[in-house]
Amino acid sequence: MTHILTLNAGSSSIKFALFEAESLNERVRGQIEGIGTTPRLSAKVADADKTEKELDGSEIDNHASALAAILTLINESFSGAQVAAVGHRIVHGGPDYASPIVIDDESFAGLEKFIPLAPLHQPHNLSGVRAAQAAFPEAVQIACFDTSFHRQHPWVNDTYALPLALYEEGVRRYGFHGLSYEYVTRALKELAPMHAAGRVVVSHLGNGASMCAIQGGQSVGSTMGFTALDGLPMGTRCGQLDPGVVLYLMAAKGLSATEIENLLYKQSGLKGLSGLSNDMRVLEEAGTIEAQRAIDYFVFRIRRELGAMVAILSGLDALVFCGGIGENAWGIRERVCRDFGWLGLELEGSRNRAAETVISSERSRVRVFIIPTNEELMIASHAAETAKAAVRSAAAA
Ligand code: AMP
Repeated sequence: MTHILTLNAGSSSIKFALFEAESLNERVRGQIEGIGTTPRLSAKVADADKTEKELDGSEIDNHASALAAILTLINESFSGAQVAAVGHRIVHGGPDYASPIVIDDESFAGLEKFIPLAPLHQPHNLSGVRAAQAAFPEAVQIACFDTSFHRQHPWVNDTYALPLALYEEGVRRYGFHGLSYEYVTRALKELAPMHAAGRVVVSHLGNGASMCAIQGGQSVGSTMGFTALDGLPMGTRCGQLDPGVVLYLMAAKGLSATEIENLLYKQSGLKGLSGLSNDMRVLEEAGTIEAQRAIDYFVFRIRRELGAMVAILSGLDALVFCGGIGENAWGIRERVCRDFGWLGLELEGSRNRAAETVISSERSRVRVFIIPTNEELMIASHAAETAKAAVRSAAAA
């Protein structure tokens, strides 16, 4: 049977999922973490128990060898499974790509140009593409961008107040997590079409966190900007920051660009504020003042951004939570939504604790939802459509 493989390649991990091409039924989902150090494979094959195993560190030391291990797992689980397309999560599609593309040599070279815009993600995403081209030479490789969903932002929400030449060369507010927002938007349309057609804010709260203002199914604003550093504080990323702080770190403290990058991406956010962990579960259980204040700051910034998005949208019809924190941390949801009665937003405590799909009260004018995100399914769906379109246009040529 023909399948679609989705890949999300990071610096030391690859997340993957396998779907049947026609039905998009999920067959396998898993990840290899610790590539190059202590590689570990965990995977859930449909209708079977979860597999977890240590891999040989000397053998799994790059994306290519990790993909070989994934290929072995697929062949062991489904003999004869043919991978017709590989859909890649590519974090940056630059100013032009508003939809997925088939990757060829020319478009690959174009995507390499965006490496400076997403130095911590793009090189690894692309090395995943190279590894997949070698492992699945017959499969069509498709790039699905985290930026695409936001490409229609109005100009005022796409630019910074810098000299215009910088905008022209690509210094723009791109916004990220687009595959998650696209999936949630489609799911909301199924669940509550009237609300989906209105004014919606989606809060993707995970280790990476952002919010998206959506009007009539279209993104009109994102808390993330030029890079995935902006907006909400995250597990280890700082979120919105006065650029003067960066100047101070350089001029007064003599930090290099690499040191500042490390500070802002890896030592800040919940981890930096708490001095303890980037993991919300650890912070909720820690009971220290610093952990509590890190959570306070996280909640405060979400509420602040929600207010800004309500202003952009001229109101609110639905608020959606997703991501590891958004889907699981009822206390965070409760605190984010507290005192928004003036907006017509009220949670139902018991529904919220039980993590039901609709967690707002009957009298709440704004409906509040929990919709578990599924970026892999979105990638598979794009890959299926894009591969079919490529076959049609090849046949017509
Ligand atoms: P993600 O990046 O979407 O996988 O989300 C990871 C974040 O979700 C981490 O900060 C986890 O601590 C958090 N998380 C997962 N489950 C829970 C839970 N039950 N309660 C609080 N936070 C959670």
